Amino acid sequence: MKILVINAGSSSLKYQLMDPDTGDVFAKGLCERIGIDGRLTHKAPAKDVKVTLEIPMPTHAEAITAVLDILVDPVNGVVSSVDEIDAVGHRVVHGGMKFAESCLIDEACLEAVRACIPLGPLHNPANLLGIEACQKILPDKPQVAVFDTAYHMTMPPKAYRYAIPDEYYEKDSLRRYGFHGTSHRYIAKRVEALMGKGLKLINCHLGNGSSLAAIYDGKCQDTSMGLSPLCGVPMGTRCGDMDITVAQFIAKNYNKSIDEVMTILNKKSGVFGLSGGLSSDFRDLESAANEGNEKCKLALDKFAYEVRKYIGAYAAALGGLDVLVFTAGIGENGATTRAAICEGLEFLGVKLDPEKNKLRGDERIISAPDSKVTVWVIPTNEELMIAQDTAELAK
Ligand code: ADP
Repeated sequence: MKILVINAGSSSLKYQLMDPDTGDVFAKGLCERIGIDGRLTHKAPAKDVKVTLEIPMPTHAEAITAVLDILVDPVNGVVSSVDEIDAVGHRVVHGGMKFAESCLIDEACLEAVRACIPLGPLHNPANLLGIEACQKILPDKPQVAVFDTAYHMTMPPKAYRYAIPDEYYEKDSLRRYGFHGTSHRYIAKRVEALMGKGLKLINCHLGNGSSLAAIYDGKCQDTSMGLSPLCGVPMGTRCGDMDITVAQFIAKNYNKSIDEVMTILNKKSGVFGLSGGLSSDFRDLESAANEGNEKCKLALDKFAYEVRKYIGAYAAALGGLDVLVFTAGIGENGATTRAAICEGLEFLGVKLDPEKNKLRGDERIISAPDSKVTVWVIPTNEELMIAQDTAELAK
């Protein structure tokens, strides 16, 4: 089977054409600057193709058309006709309380995704643009929505409820939802395949956006992001957990609207904010810290400290810990950050092997042989999960 996986943002759209059974990626790429001018970067690994094209993309529909055109292109493409694509899987960020699983897209599903816009105002409208463009251009292909929040729906109420007046939950569904669910689910499945069932697992998805999940026997028990992806550990540009009185102070004393304050907390904070606006990229922060930049040292220190605190909290929530996993950009590549996070966690039974931690590669154990907790680096693969769900539901 060949499944087209789409991840639509407000001005960008990522795609992968892949085999859900083998995980082989036939082609992948990115449409950028949708609504501005339009640029397509396309790769077909088996053909050694990498091209960048300037193509006008006033809306997501032109972006999808450009993707399909290049997929069937005799030189750069990987299929002879669009007929070879069996179905389309869409990443949708917020599924609210309606979706504990992926869903074949029909009018009722779309209505439910639209109803989640107030909960996910920054992401769901763009995800819907991608779905609607595909429905217009590929009306006969089954389309599936895969939600970032769905995996976390097994959390118990004590984990997902906020201690605010009851009516905001009953009337408005304000609660912890959690994100990166497709990545956390992929890791939980891999850990089960590698180590078996019934394990207490903490997964650290550390990328531009970062979240941790406490998982027992494959099911999510708690996660660090909340109603939105803003909370939890500090991130590239998001503040993470913080006394919300800070938001009130900034609004009052700098005469800013709620939306302006939210933009500061989402886009100008995190390690970017702590570094004095130098960078949100951990590679930049590490090289500046190595040259003595104190702000960057603090940003890295703060990040590792907060992740370590969550690991301690989740080990307590799970009543123990068997497996600790690092994934996503920083989790997979940031050996220094991994070491900093695990420092002092020996009391929990976490003991890294410093040499193994430095090695690069695919799935690998980085703990010492006598570590009570097995520590893994496992590259995440959200696209594969989306493709597999899509193949299953499209049958
Ligand atoms: P996104 O959340 O956008 O999917 P990624 O999971 O790709 O992000 O992670 C991106 C982050 O990974 C970058 O901001 C960078 O800080 C970090 N990263 C990538 N490579 C390295 C590396 N070799 N060392 C440390 N950090 C890295």
